[in-house]
Amino acid sequence: MARIVVVGAGVAGLSSAMLLAKDGHDVVVLERDPAPPPTSADEAWDDWDRRGVNQFRLLHYFLPRFRLLLDAELPEVAAAALELGALRHNPIALAPAEVTGGLRPGDEDHEAITARRPVMEAALARVAASMPGLTVRRGVAVTGLEVGAPVAVGVPHVTGVRTDTGETIRVDLVVDASGRRSPLPSWLAAIDARPPVEEVEDSGFVYYGRYFRSADGSLPVAFGPPLQHYDSLSILSLPADNGTWGVGFVTSAGDPALRALRDPEVWSTALQLYPLVAHWADGKLLDDQVAVMAKIEDRHREYHVDGMPVATGVLAVADSWACTNPSVGRGASIGLLHAVTLRDVLRGSSLDEPLALAHEYHEATARTVEPWYRSTLSFDRSRLAEIDAQRRGASYDGGPEWEITQAMGFASMQDPDVLRGFVRIGGLLSLPEDVLAQPGFLDRVIELGAGWRDAPGAGPSREQLLAGISA
Ligand SMILES: Cc1cc2nc3c(=O)[nH]c(=O)nc-3n(C[C@H](O)[C@H](O)[C@H](O)COP(=O)(O)OP(=O)(O)OC[C@H]3O[C@@H](n4cnc5c(N)ncnc54)[C@H](O)[C@@H]3O)c2cc1C
Repeated sequence: MARIVVVGAGVAGLSSAMLLAKDGHDVVVLERDPAPPPTSADEAWDDWDRRGVNQFRLLHYFLPRFRLLLDAELPEVAAAALELGALRHNPIALAPAEVTGGLRPGDEDHEAITARRPVMEAALARVAASMPGLTVRRGVAVTGLEVGAPVAVGVPHVTGVRTDTGETIRVDLVVDASGRRSPLPSWLAAIDARPPVEEVEDSGFVYYGRYFRSADGSLPVAFGPPLQHYDSLSILSLPADNGTWGVGFVTSAGDPALRALRDPEVWSTALQLYPLVAHWADGKLLDDQVAVMAKIEDRHREYHVDGMPVATGVLAVADSWACTNPSVGRGASIGLLHAVTLRDVLRGSSLDEPLALAHEYHEATARTVEPWYRSTLSFDRSRLAEIDAQRRGASYDGGPEWEITQAMGFASMQDPDVLRGFVRIGGLLSLPEDVLAQPGFLDRVIELGAGWRDAPGAGPSREQLLAGISA
């Protein structure tokens, strides 16, 4: 079995490390942030200093695919999360039978396990801390890569890492899980590797989020999906652990009028204008401020260029490989799926053949997680363009893929089969193309969803919103 270093103890770093340790590898996780994981949900939320993760206290919801993978691969993490107060939450089971047609076999797939991000990460950290074959060292930052004899011409071979504690740690494989700001490209440049091909741009969205808690552990009733799209903004309403929940506005960064949402009073006033979610403010606020996050980049790094890896002995997982605007809440699920992919590739290949391993990981990444990255990016681009059109009072023509997505959303309220297909995509359970390929599915979407543009809005127009928040 191999010696492996994982860089970063975030959601994907800890998941990867645990999956690899379970397979008998000797795994060390190096995490820059020194703070030890807390033992309770409240400590995790109130005190855990995790400045290495910008989005640590911002709105998070963990999708059904995340739960499915946890239950299958890391059930002890699911158990620890529940012990810390995480919520098993199945929107299909909670929706009225008139909409769902009643519960059916297979509906259990739609169950999510969700919590505030610090609480979910505390569960991962708790299990990782006591897992045989796994050591998590906090307060140790990786600063660069060690190299040995190359296994292919012009391709450096990584044999370990250097740290800010002055150590050199030699291993068979380095897994980079250092997140959306991963320094891996600069480490590779320092060992004379070819640069990865990077696609990067500002996603163009801004988040304005807040967390609430009920006095009795209950949650607000959901009158719609967790992500609702309105005229020129979207709203998230996300159940979490221990009677807490998050609510947030997602706007275009190019919309100065809505920057007022950073003001707590304006934020609260705005929420009251949306009847389907106004009651999500009926709780105790966990923070006085609105948590704002802007300049969220969509980034994809291809470490396999012109048919060859830029280096062997190092593999990037999760956000370090690719990350998008998070309004559809997919990052942790894609990250966990990528961690499982990494584990599966290592099961089928030998670390004695690093070049073959790099090729196999590249192919498996392209097969399992890349389609989700592309699909998320495509949705986000269209939604941003639609918001920008709405701001101008123009109608938006996003092309056939966008039309079908919108029609599917509209038809899902009228047809239980379409609903299930729609939520399978939302839950990261099935890709859009697979759902649409089901016999008769597209016909139903076109028949029932064609009128989506004429559906009455459930919230204020942009004019009413702007008037409401400036009153
Ligand atoms: C605003 C926002 C909201 C989001 N909401 C959701 C959501 O609702 N649902 C969802 O599934 N996803 C969501 N995401 C995405 C999710 O947070 C990420 O996909 C997930 O955290 C990725 O995990 P990771 O382990 O790859 O990286 P991270 O969790 O970012 O962890 C990276 C770790 O690496 C450490 N590190 C960095 N450099 C070094 C170094 N040199 N040496 C050692 N350690 C290092 C950092 O300190 C950090 O602990 C959201 C993201 C944002 C920005």
